[in-house]
Amino acid sequence: MTNRVALITGAASGIGAAIATRLAHEGAAVALLARRADRLEKLAARIVESGGTAIAVPADVVDEESVAAAAAQVQERLGDIDLLVNNAGLMKVVPFEALPAEQWRRLIDVNVNGMINVTRIFLPTLKRSAATKTTDLVNVSSIAGERFMAGMATYGASKAALTYLSRALRIEVAGDGIRVTNLEPGMTGGTELADEFPADLQAMVDEIRTSLPAIQADEVADLVAYVVSRPRNVNLSRVVIQPAKEI
Ligand code: NDP
Repeated sequence: MTNRVALITGAASGIGAAIATRLAHEGAAVALLARRADRLEKLAARIVESGGTAIAVPADVVDEESVAAAAAQVQERLGDIDLLVNNAGLMKVVPFEALPAEQWRRLIDVNVNGMINVTRIFLPTLKRSAATKTTDLVNVSSIAGERFMAGMATYGASKAALTYLSRALRIEVAGDGIRVTNLEPGMTGGTELADEFPADLQAMVDEIRTSLPAIQADEVADLVAYVVSRPRNVNLSRVVIQPAKEI
């Protein structure tokens, strides 16, 4: 992947950090986007120390100005990206009525509007890249997008929206040469998403994670590296990855 340039959102931890590390290891130059600048700087430094190319571009995916500023930095330092991984996301697992309005608004905002915002800002550069090289848009949705689970109405709806966006957008940009992949992981460990569980559910979730056992963030990253390195005429448009024992 030595000629690839990737931007990964939500790269401060979990699946996003694992994807960035893996792509950089494969030779891609990576731009790391999330809100926590210190985390991004540390990850970028680790990648550079091990011989890779990485820059930190702190931004909030829902804030158009901060994403535009990040995009300008990426353009100046790495040029056109040819791989965008929309991975930033939040999860709340609570009964529908228990989620305060500002929290469900924020969840939908980050998981859905964040992806729309980032994609709109980077689409012109992806289209430019696609004219000459393999170009991918990978959206990290979830199996929750089509599974109906108590306590996950808002999160599941946000992921269903993301899955729809991937599939519909794919039709719009296929002619430009951009491949779109909707990635649907099941329960994944090695991330901070679990911090979003209420305390009483945490023990149960930890137990499920251990007993399944959950897949790990670097196993999801491994799949992303596989998906984006297929021959240019091959698009893995929808990919589900789950713990073997998750049903
Ligand atoms: P993490 O909480 O570890 O990662 C989420 C990342 O998103 C963080 O790096 C966070 O960084 C970033 N983020 C959150 N809000 C924003 C924002 N407004 N702007 C920019 N970045 C933001 O969890 P995971 O790695 O588990 O989650 C990654 C994705 O994978 C999510 O979309 C999640 O829904 C999805 N997923 C996870 C599964 C799991 O079981 N873990 C299963 C299926 C899908 P910062 O706080 O610094 O902004």
